[in-house]
Order: sequence, then structure tokens, then C-alpha cells
Amino acid sequence: MRLDDLFNQNKMHLSFEVFPPKTDTAFESVKRATEEIATLRPSFVSVTYGAGGGTSRYTLEIAKNIKKNYGVPTLAHLTCVSSTKDTVRERIVQMHEAGIENIMALRGDLTPELEATDRSGWAYRHAVDLIHDIKESGYDFCIGGACYPEIHPESANQRDDIKYLKEKVDAGCSFLTTQMFFDNNLLYNFLYKIREAGITVPVIPGIMPITNANQIERAIKLSGSFVPQRFKALVDKFGHSPDAMKQAGIAYATDQIIDLFANGILNVHVYSMNKPDVAASIQGNLSSIIG
Ligand code: FAD
Repeated sequence: MRLDDLFNQNKMHLSFEVFPPKTDTAFESVKRATEEIATLRPSFVSVTYGAGGGTSRYTLEIAKNIKKNYGVPTLAHLTCVSSTKDTVRERIVQMHEAGIENIMALRGDLTPELEATDRSGWAYRHAVDLIHDIKESGYDFCIGGACYPEIHPESANQRDDIKYLKEKVDAGCSFLTTQMFFDNNLLYNFLYKIREAGITVPVIPGIMPITNANQIERAIKLSGSFVPQRFKALVDKFGHSPDAMKQAGIAYATDQIIDLFANGILNVHVYSMNKPDVAASIQGNLSSIIG
């Protein structure tokens, strides 16, 4: 199923994100975890892409398996940073041949190693370049892009960030998924600004359940997200107890999602981090809400 068709339904939906293994030996256990998540029958499952990594082929394998064997729509991520035009073209053809209908078109992070290389000859500078190439491939994919309620860390200001976001949408993004955030007001404020800038496509909030204290440091370092006092208190109080932190993290994420649905958001994406138990708990907490 194309996600633009899914988002056109006037219904509340919950979807999950999974990531492929970083090593070949971890493939089977990661595959099993993604299958358990697929059996929850979310509205779709997104599968991330390891930028430049040797295991990027697993994105396609996992997405194909979930779609074909579990009947759940999938969204395969694709990054372009430091890739050649030939590699990207090859991936697009592979996705089409695997029956993938939805691609999340991303630039990918500029790691310190990439930042240190000579970038003058790069075929891709920004995600918008990839979106153009997917459009020009001749295959009719539904394309998504990333957006940042708290500004992308490399952006000088939100006005420029939104200007470039509009370029991605104009190039062919049918929807946008947000970076994680822990305060819904940041999302509502962002939505107001992008709608004012003429961006009208569905925006899918990305919610990260923080279920252990170490995860919060990693998540914040990566995303630069603001951490509300209410969340800090929860980590201070329960961070030392894995079971308590897990329960509190799931409750916090559930609370965020209920608030989003209550305020008119129809689709919420959960960064489930390959944890079927966490995905199942959140879904269970919403069983009468999403039906
Ligand atoms: P871009 O849209 O290219 O934006 C990057 C920066 O460049 C921004 O500051 C933007 O304002 C600026 N910019 C954009 N266009 C222009 C332009 N034309 N001229 C000048 N400046 C411009 N990473 C992975 O490696 N694999 C994944 O699977 C993955 N999935 C993700 C899913 C989501 C929902 C999100 C939010 C992020 C994901 N990421 C993933 C991380 C992402 O790759 C990084 O955040 C990356 O730094 C930016 O990617 P982008 O596609 O948003 O880039």
C-alpha cells in the first residue's frame, strides 16, 4: 500500500520504525524482532538505512519480508550522502524490483569521517537531490522526507530550515516524518509555521519511547532535542531501576501520543528501536483509541 493512500484515510494510525543489523551475525535476531513488530499489525513499518554501511542491503530484505510475509505496508529508507549516482540508481531499481512502494528519502548524517573528506565531488549535497532522482527514475514511488520541529542541527535558523523543507516537498515528498521530540508544544508550533509557509502535506510525528537511562543521553546527543523538566524528573527518579524506567518511559510516550491524537494528529510513528515488547505495550495502551 502506498502511504499517501493510507494518510488520505480519515483515521488514526500508529506505525513503527525498525533498524537493520549492523553486522551480518545479528541479522537473524534482528529479523525476528522486526517480524514480532510486524505481527502487531501497525499501519506501516519503516526500516532505516545505514548510511554508507556494508549492511545497507538488509534494509531492503527486512522491508520486503515484512511486506510479503506479514502483509504490512513498509517504508524503506534510503540515504544519499557520499553515494554515487550509479549506486543510488541501483538501489532505486532494487527497491522497485522488490515491490517497495514507499521510500523515505534522506541525506544521511555527516559523520566526523565524512566531514573530514573532500566533498567537492559529491553527487548529492542534500536530500532534495535524491528526491529529484527518485522522481526522475520513472518509478512511481510514494516519497517521504525528514523534518525537524527543533531545527536541523546544521541549520542557522528555522526560517532557512523551513525554506529548504518546502523545496523537498515541492520536489515530490508526499509526507514528512519528524525527528523525535519530548514536548508536544514544539510540534504544534512547528506545524503552525510550516503550514504558514505553504507546506500542506501530512506530517507524521516521530515519538521515541525512552526506556533506559543511557538511551536518553544518546538520543539527545544525536537529535539535540529539548528535554522537559517533567521528563528529567522521571529519569532522575527511575533511571537506576530498569523495570521502573521502562514502565515510566512507555507511559510518557503513550501520554505524548494520546495528546497528539486528541489534538487532531492522525498518524503517529513510534521509534520502536527493534523492541517488540515496547511496541506492544504502547499499542496496547492505545487499543480503544486507535481501534
Ligand atoms: P536535508 O534535507 O538535506 O537537510 C540537511 C540540512 O541541510 C538541513 O540543515 C537543511 O536545512 C539543509 N538543507 C537542505 N536542503 C538544502 C539546500 N538546498 N541548500 C542548503 N541547505 C539545505 N539517517 C540515516 O543514516 N538513516 C536513516 O534511515 C535515517 N532515518 C531518519 C528518519 C527520520 C524521520 C529523521 C528525522 C532522520 C533520519 N536520519 C537517518 C537522520 C538524517 O539522515 C539526518 O538528520 C541528516 O543530518 C539530515 O537528513 P535530511 O534528509 O533531513 O537532510
